[in-house]
Amino acid sequence: MCPAVVALLSVALTAVGAATSLPPRAGAQTSPPRPNELGRVPILEYHLIGDRESRWSRERGTFRRDLELLHRRGYRPVTVAELVSRRLDLPAGTSPVVVTFDDASPGQFSFIRRADGTLVPDPTSAVGIWLDFAKAHPGWGTKATFCVLSNATYGHAFFGDKGINGQETAWRFPKLQFLVRRGFELCNHTLWHGKLDRLSDDEVRAQIGRAQLAIDSAVPGYRVRTFALPLGLWPRNRGLVRGGSWTDRTSGRTMTWTHDAVLEVAGTKAAGPVSYSPHDPRFDPLSLPRVQVVGKTLETLLDRLERTGQRYVSDGDPRTVAKPGP
Ligand SMILES: [Zn+2]
Repeated sequence: MCPAVVALLSVALTAVGAATSLPPRAGAQTSPPRPNELGRVPILEYHLIGDRESRWSRERGTFRRDLELLHRRGYRPVTVAELVSRRLDLPAGTSPVVVTFDDASPGQFSFIRRADGTLVPDPTSAVGIWLDFAKAHPGWGTKATFCVLSNATYGHAFFGDKGINGQETAWRFPKLQFLVRRGFELCNHTLWHGKLDRLSDDEVRAQIGRAQLAIDSAVPGYRVRTFALPLGLWPRNRGLVRGGSWTDRTSGRTMTWTHDAVLEVAGTKAAGPVSYSPHDPRFDPLSLPRVQVVGKTLETLLDRLERTGQRYVSDGDPRTVAKPGP
């Protein structure tokens, strides 16, 4: 048959399909996905959540639609700590997704003060949107990871200070306490986003140690397992990110850390943009790739994972690792 006829026939068949039933959307699931616990796990990365879209900002309505898209496609959030612990206890047929927020801006987590004086999450901030979404979608939970700066400028200090965006300095610790109480994960993103590749070993230790001291002051005894590299830049002495210590001269207190997970700012040479399954021998918890969610990246990514059969799909049994079929 000549190519022109084949093309015409396919147009006609498409038209019939459209008339009798809704055609499946590209990437949409038509049958339950088969278990594949060696598939890839997307680690998403958000920065500002606010009024508009830009390279570093997600508009809040679009953010909510991201959550809806993930949920509709069968994704369920896990924290970075759960990922590296290989603790992915998900219902059969669903897939893990890791959602990370960097830089601790007020748009990620604002409080509003009620008339009776109590503080509640602003429903227009990411935490407010997330909690509202979780209420309407049982099983969604509160497993997101917040990579915080303890003392950067422009309100990037535990989600806002000095009245920036209406956020009081005194609300910083209660915000961290709120997140931990609700089951979110805290991750160290340094004191003020220092470019670690340009700092001395002592300065790197201070960037990590000071942030850890601040987190510990808010949530005493909290074990920080995850570290996010500012701008994805490694210090010359990479071992300092994995573990180290720093002593606060004022109090004489020594902070020590051993990170189980290190987040890059983009894809890695070894894994590409999407992380290997933690059950894959190539999985490297100390160099985890992330995908920045801008424009249509999320939808494109989910489509690609499904189309190529690379998507991690749970078999519902955390004791076994389901391998993809032939
Ligand atoms: Zn950052």
